[in-house]
Amino acid sequence: MIDESLQILLGGAISEKLQVKIHINEAKNVGGGEINETFRINTNEGYFFLKLNDATRYPEMFRQEFAGLEALRKARALAVPRPLATGTAGGKTFLLMEFIQKGNAIGDFWEDFAAGLARQHMQTQDTFGFPTPNYIGTIKQYNTPYSNWSVFYAFNRLMPLTKLGYDEGIIESSVVKQMERLCRHLPKLFPQEKPALLHGDLWSGNFLIGPDGKACIYDPAVYYGHREMDLGMARLFGGFDTRFYYAYQSIYPLAPGWQQRIGVCQLYPLLVHTLLFGGNYYSSVREILAAY
Ligand code: ADP
Repeated sequence: MIDESLQILLGGAISEKLQVKIHINEAKNVGGGEINETFRINTNEGYFFLKLNDATRYPEMFRQEFAGLEALRKARALAVPRPLATGTAGGKTFLLMEFIQKGNAIGDFWEDFAAGLARQHMQTQDTFGFPTPNYIGTIKQYNTPYSNWSVFYAFNRLMPLTKLGYDEGIIESSVVKQMERLCRHLPKLFPQEKPALLHGDLWSGNFLIGPDGKACIYDPAVYYGHREMDLGMARLFGGFDTRFYYAYQSIYPLAPGWQQRIGVCQLYPLLVHTLLFGGNYYSSVREILAAY
């Protein structure tokens, strides 16, 4: 539910952005999101998907999500909802996008999903990074460009979150030291790899089966990174069939030693979850670090 006065303000702001008169007739909560309020809105122009958050807390978040969705759509690899407008109204920041109806998986769903992700990962550029910082959940994600993955991963991902956790009293100084040791070791673990266009937050809650029976991905934290990051994330929280990994490996094989790197790639999402939710995730961080 969105109260009526906010509904009117949002309708006005969206109309201005789209240059089309939009009247919101109904807003129905869509569950499943962890960070934002999410709705299917019924308007005079049909259904749309709307995300809302506090305008003062995360002013840039939806602009970055908009840019990420556009970057993924440009790759023409997997289905991605079309972002339509972002702005503020009534103290809320909003992101409006195409509403994707849920469908049923068709025959080679997992193989097809893997092929799409591989095609997306084949999109490359000279450096690891993204033009602007963005967010993973509500956590700022730095994207300063580097030509070397190990440097990028240490400086933009592992160390900033470790430091944040330490400053907030969540991460102990011994773990900071272990993380620094691991960062020094990264060049030995990761062979040279081309930057790949990543979804960046690829867990099973961030795709749905679209009306054509194929995967549609959303809620990304896009950057050019190491493709094992997307696969490590998918494995971490489960929900992807083994056929997905086999198909990916046969289409776009990973460099030898990828099995040993899974935990290291999972350290970043585990740090994100440690900061957002604490508890067991921190134990997993420590377990992975103990091996280095
Ligand atoms: P959050 O940013 O809060 O994590 P999500 O972007 O993950 O929110 O969206 C919450 C839920 O809404 C998803 O789990 C999915 O089921 C659904 N959803 C997301 N995007 C769309 C869309 N474009 N069309 C229809 N449903 C969507």
